[in-house]
Amino acid sequence: MTGKRENSAGPGTRLAAAGRRPEWTGPVVNPPVWRASTHLYESTAALKAGTAQNEDGRFFYGRRGGPTQWALADALTALEPGAAGTMLYPSGVAAISSALMAVLNPGAVLLMADNVYDPSRAVGRSLLGQFGIETRFFDPLDLAAYEASFCERTRAVLLEAPGSLTMEMCDIPALAAIARSRGAVSLIDNTWASALGFPALERGCDIAIMSLTKHVGGHSDLMMGSASAGAELYGVLRHHAQLLGHVVSPDDAALALRGLRTLGVRLERTAASALVIASWLEQQAQVARVLCPMLPSDPGHALWKRDFTGSCGLFSFILKDADEAARARFIDALELFGIGYSWGGYESLVVPVDPAFARSVMAWPPHGLAQQDCRGVRLAIGLEDPEDLIADLDQAFRAMES
Ligand SMILES: *Cc1c(COP(=O)(O)O)cnc(C)c1O
Repeated sequence: MTGKRENSAGPGTRLAAAGRRPEWTGPVVNPPVWRASTHLYESTAALKAGTAQNEDGRFFYGRRGGPTQWALADALTALEPGAAGTMLYPSGVAAISSALMAVLNPGAVLLMADNVYDPSRAVGRSLLGQFGIETRFFDPLDLAAYEASFCERTRAVLLEAPGSLTMEMCDIPALAAIARSRGAVSLIDNTWASALGFPALERGCDIAIMSLTKHVGGHSDLMMGSASAGAELYGVLRHHAQLLGHVVSPDDAALALRGLRTLGVRLERTAASALVIASWLEQQAQVARVLCPMLPSDPGHALWKRDFTGSCGLFSFILKDADEAARARFIDALELFGIGYSWGGYESLVVPVDPAFARSVMAWPPHGLAQQDCRGVRLAIGLEDPEDLIADLDQAFRAMES
C-alpha cells in the first residue's frame, strides 16, 4: 500500500486503500482482529529459524505485533509522504517519550519548543533528566534565539504546531532545517493537523508523532500513539520500541483503522465548523482574542496557509475581563460541550486553559493583552451542527454575565 498510485492519489482515496494488504485482510474488506501471543512452530529447527529473524510482517511473538497492528502501521506509513515505517505505542505520550529516548543518549541536550503539550515538557524535565539528558526550552517564534541555543551536545529538537493550548504557528520548515544543519534530529508532535493537514517529513522533520487517541481513533474510545520516519530512523524507533516492550492490542488497532477511514471527512467537517465558530467568537464582546491559525486575523495565519493543507476543530480563545468564577459560569452553562480533556472525537469538548504554568520562556497572556484578560478556554469542535454550537456558546455568555 505504498505504491505509486496510492501516493499520487488524493487523501480520501489513500485513506480507503491504506493498509489493506491482501495477505492480511484475506477476502474481507477490513483487516480482521488477529489475536495472538504465541507462534507455534513445526519443529525446533523452524523455531530456531523464526527466532533469528526480526522483520516487519513476520509473526514471531505477540509483542512484535501481528497482522492487525501491521495493517494500521502500514496505513499510517502510506499516509505520511517520506515515511519508510511507523511504530505504534500504547498512547501518544508513550510515542513521544519512546521516540525521544530512541534518539538521545546521556549527556545530550534536547531543545524543546516552549509551547509543546505539557506532558511532553514533563518527559523532558523528569524522565529524560533521570538518564542524564538535559532539556532546554526555546521560543519557536524566535528563530535567532533558537539557532543561538544549539550547542555541541544538542542532538534533538521537539516541535509542535500550532502550540498546545495557545495555538501559535511557527515556521516548522525553517526550524527543522536549522536542526538538520546542526546534526540534530527534529521530532514533531503532529497530532493537530495529522499527515493529511501537514506532511511533516516532506516539510523537513525527521520523525512525525501523533496521538492516535485524538483524530485517528476519532470516537473517544481508545488510546494509542504513533511515530513515522524514514528508513534509518524508523529502524532506531523500532529497535527501542522492542526494547521497551511496546505493543498495542489488535482490538484497538482495528478500531483505529476503522477511525482512519473517515479521518479525511471528519477533519474537513470539524475544521470548517471551527472556522465558522472562531469567526463568530471574534465578534463577541466577551472575547479578548481568538487563538486560531485558520483565522485571517491570526498572526500565524500566513505560515499556516503556506505550510498546511488542512486543520481540525481544536482552537482556544481568551475571555475579556473575566475572573475565574465568570469563566466557570460560562463553561458550566454549556450544554453541547462536554467538560473534559482530549479532543479529536465526534463530540465537542471544552476545558479552561491557563498556560502560564506550562511555559518557561513564552509570555502569557499573549503580548498586547492586559493581565486581567488571561482566562483561556479551549474548544474541540465535533461533528454537531455549528449553528447549534454557536447558539450554545451564546447562551453560555449570557449565563456568564448574569
Ligand atoms: C493528547 C495529546 C498527546 C498525548 O496523547 P495520549 O494518547 O493522550 O497519550 C500528545 N500530544 C498532543 C498534542 C495531544 O493533544
